[in-house]
Amino acid sequence: MNEKILVVEDERDISRMIEYNLKKEGYRTVLVHDGSFAALTAAKEKPALILLDLMLPGLDGLEVCRRLKADAKTRTIPIIMLTAKGEESDKVLGLGLGADDYVTKPFGLKELLARVQAVLRRYSEKAAGAAAPERLKAGLLELDAAKVEVRLKGAPVELTSKEFELLKALMACGEKVLTREELLEKAWGLDASLEVETRTVDVHVGTLRKKLRSEGRRIVTVKNYGYRFEGEEA
Ligand code: CA
Repeated sequence: MNEKILVVEDERDISRMIEYNLKKEGYRTVLVHDGSFAALTAAKEKPALILLDLMLPGLDGLEVCRRLKADAKTRTIPIIMLTAKGEESDKVLGLGLGADDYVTKPFGLKELLARVQAVLRRYSEKAAGAAAPERLKAGLLELDAAKVEVRLKGAPVELTSKEFELLKALMACGEKVLTREELLEKAWGLDASLEVETRTVDVHVGTLRKKLRSEGRRIVTVKNYGYRFEGEEA
């Protein structure tokens, strides 16, 4: 337990009541009252779950949901939408955007807690079930996917989340060449190619290589195609 839950709800009475009851159940909470701060806060706080109201100032809940699902940092965080009666079509849209569940206002706290527990349980089972040989090694380089940690000669290397995802994708593919589009998809999320230019990959590969120092040479440019990771000892 003790999981952190982000509550995005502008009506303070409701958000306080939700907070009070989540805390009583042993959860930690972060409250946001404006839609425009929701995605940023989620990326920073990395909550185990997000309760997302639909009618919000700043950005509405559907747009928040869209942004959360477009960002690799937040896309795997489960979302339960808080909808009012009569927002039937929004509910459908929200589920289509990748929300996991919804609760219709006015809701009972028992119902809300039951949904929260159910979604968290589903996700932890999924996480436990996912095959995770997630320790990758090459030369002086070690990547631990579970800990989101990269070490060079045993010393931690500070990487941005994109650099980390890029390195993970390359190392996990063995010697296979990955195109820039494939790397975008893996590190930026599925629809990233619509918004991010492929040369962004080159920029991040550049900074990544520098940070990996002598092991940066393992990220090999394959001209007119993309990149591959050289795992063999040179
Ligand atoms: Ca509202």
